[in-house]
Amino acid sequence: MQLTPHFHLSEFTRSSTARRLGDANQPNAQELANLRRLAECLERIRAHLGGHPVVITSGFRNERVNRAVGGVPNSAHRLGLAADFTVPGFHQGPSSVLATCQAIAEVPGLCFDQLINEHDRWIHLSLRPADDRRQLLTIDSRGTRPGLLRAQA
Ligand SMILES: [Zn+2]
Repeated sequence: MQLTPHFHLSEFTRSSTARRLGDANQPNAQELANLRRLAECLERIRAHLGGHPVVITSGFRNERVNRAVGGVPNSAHRLGLAADFTVPGFHQGPSSVLATCQAIAEVPGLCFDQLINEHDRWIHLSLRPADDRRQLLTIDSRGTRPGLLRAQA
């Protein structure tokens, strides 16, 4: 499944651990929606870095794969909200990951939660879970209640 023009779902789900476990490592609907947001973010990064291919080394991990790799339960990878990658064509040399991170940090208005230079070997970029909860509440003499209700005096 193509998520955006340059990113395919399989780039986020391929995992040597999943292969070893015989697990397809497929996202559910919410996780897929998260991966789409992530791919859109990576498209903006790709364009900003001159259109060089973004090579994803680790993306989504379902619960079983995440446990097998020793990932923390609330890892953004677990939710389809993080990718580890490199952009080999953008910058060569020992400081290539740092230079790429610095360039990503300058993408105008790019929304991300964390951008991490990991060991000068790869970049970890994560998004926040959807910020807008569209929570509908009523507060009145009875306290805080779900839904839009007529307030009680
Ligand atoms: Zn990561």
